[in-house]
Amino acid sequence: MCVREYRIVYGVYMDCRETRKNIYRFIEDKLEGKELQSFMKHISQCEECKEELAIEYLVTEGLQHLEKESTFDLQSQLEKKMEGARKKIALRKRVVCFMYAMETLAILAVLLMAVLVIVK
Ligand SMILES: [Zn+2]
Repeated sequence: MCVREYRIVYGVYMDCRETRKNIYRFIEDKLEGKELQSFMKHISQCEECKEELAIEYLVTEGLQHLEKESTFDLQSQLEKKMEGARKKIALRKRVVCFMYAMETLAILAVLLMAVLVIVK
């Protein structure tokens, strides 16, 4: 059974249909930011889509590597790719946190200046 993911992840919906549409984009490293985050979240929770991703990855990458006739472990390559995506998301979260902190500081600075102007 495939559990449909309708929860909001930072404002982006991604269900099974949406996730599967994005599998190729993930393989080609074209998913970024919120999309990547939603995609990874769905993949981590949905066995069916995870399997679908593994199959698509094996087919896509497998065909490319066949021509180079090198021995390789696609499963661990996919794991590495997923790990890279997770790091990207973690980094993005930190950047968003930082920006939020800066925004808060900026608002505080404006308030402080307003207070100073009123006091004068
Ligand atoms: Zn799914």
